[in-house]
Amino acid sequence: MADVVIIGAGISGAASAYELAKEGLDVVLVDRFGPAAMASGWTLAGVRQSGRHPSELPLAKAAVEIWNTLAEELDGPTHYQRGGNLRLARTEHEIPVIETLVREQNAAGLDLTLLSSNAEIRALAPAISERVMVASHCPTDGSADPASTVTAFVEAAKRLGVTTRFGERVLRIETSGGRVSGVVTDKGTIPAARVVIAAGIFGNELLTPLGYEVPLQVPMVTVLRSTPIDATLRQVIGVANADCAGRQEYNGRFRVTSGLQDWHGVMKESETEAGIRPKVLPTGQSMAEVVKLFGEVVPAFAGAQVEEFWAGLLDMTPDALPVLDNTLETEGLVVAMGFSGHGFCLGPITGRIICDLVQGRPSRMPIEPFGIRRFSALRNMPEPATLHG
Ligand SMILES: Cc1cc2nc3c(=O)[nH]c(=O)nc-3n(C[C@H](O)[C@H](O)[C@H](O)COP(=O)(O)OP(=O)(O)OC[C@H]3O[C@@H](n4cnc5c(N)ncnc54)[C@H](O)[C@@H]3O)c2cc1C
Repeated sequence: MADVVIIGAGISGAASAYELAKEGLDVVLVDRFGPAAMASGWTLAGVRQSGRHPSELPLAKAAVEIWNTLAEELDGPTHYQRGGNLRLARTEHEIPVIETLVREQNAAGLDLTLLSSNAEIRALAPAISERVMVASHCPTDGSADPASTVTAFVEAAKRLGVTTRFGERVLRIETSGGRVSGVVTDKGTIPAARVVIAAGIFGNELLTPLGYEVPLQVPMVTVLRSTPIDATLRQVIGVANADCAGRQEYNGRFRVTSGLQDWHGVMKESETEAGIRPKVLPTGQSMAEVVKLFGEVVPAFAGAQVEEFWAGLLDMTPDALPVLDNTLETEGLVVAMGFSGHGFCLGPITGRIICDLVQGRPSRMPIEPFGIRRFSALRNMPEPATLHG
């Protein structure tokens, strides 16, 4: 019998497996596809504190501390670069949005500065267009390589004794006498006293039979990856109305995303070298739109060749905050889902929080805002934040 089964080998599940194994627990990490097969592979992978909701900011700050030395700790590459984040105002209309962001985030204790002229912006980031008017700059933000990072977590977890079962789908969570007793998969059963649901957009498939639900919307985001480009851009770029974002990867390629779009509902599965992987396709129109919008802020991207494209799906909660909770009536059940387009940065601290919750200790970070029960009091919820990246 395992101590813990973790469902999902995205960054949340992989980091949790690593942290629990560090504490000597017998962990089984199950994924219906494999590491970083869904959001944690589809992501832009910005490691960002700026633009965070005040209740998420302490987690993002704690995560950024960990990111700094994560590659050494895991003994595997993350390609983390602390190159900063610039959020741009392209029109007069967008300037107050950025000014307000800087004011609010400064009040929340984040070192975010206002670059109030194009010259100031281009002194930091010469690749930015001369048309950009104003920007916020967070020097301690950055990015990492998503597939490398999740692989580094999984490999470090395996070295600590974690059993991985990839290409295996959990069909349901078993309970006995109000407690978790294991999981049933399409290949057998795995008895365990504790189960972590880190299954992203599919979390509710496992939760609803137990009588719980996280209200989720699943929008899609178009992602393009270019061939390597000579232009150098250190910062992750966002814009005031979040209709595009992008960054240059460590290998020179640009990874660029759209704003939120309605998902057409189709997710196909195809055979790849790594095994069966899910793929969601964006529309041709949305790809053209992303090239246009990002090319307007980073002109070098406008002439780039697109090497790869896909669409990513987000697990958006009504308040755009995650669920991190172990207080459900089913004893031994821990939930880590609903990261709403910002869970990549949080991954390393999510792993530590989930470790606390599995071990039955108080969380080392404040997680009161992330309880699953907050949705039962859903009344007049504000519009969810649209920033991702
Ligand atoms: C386009 C895009 C851009 C983004 N940009 C950023 C960004 O810049 N910065 C940032 O911080 N965040 C960003 N995000 C969000 C971030 O990537 C996610 O919040 C994060 O990766 C979620 O990780 P996760 O491990 O919780 O979920 P996932 O990575 O989705 O992992 C869930 C895993 O569970 C597995 N699974 C599901 N059901 C089952 C089952 N029944 N049995 C077994 N396995 C199962 C899946 O196969 C999957 O591998 C972005 C997301 C997208 C899509």
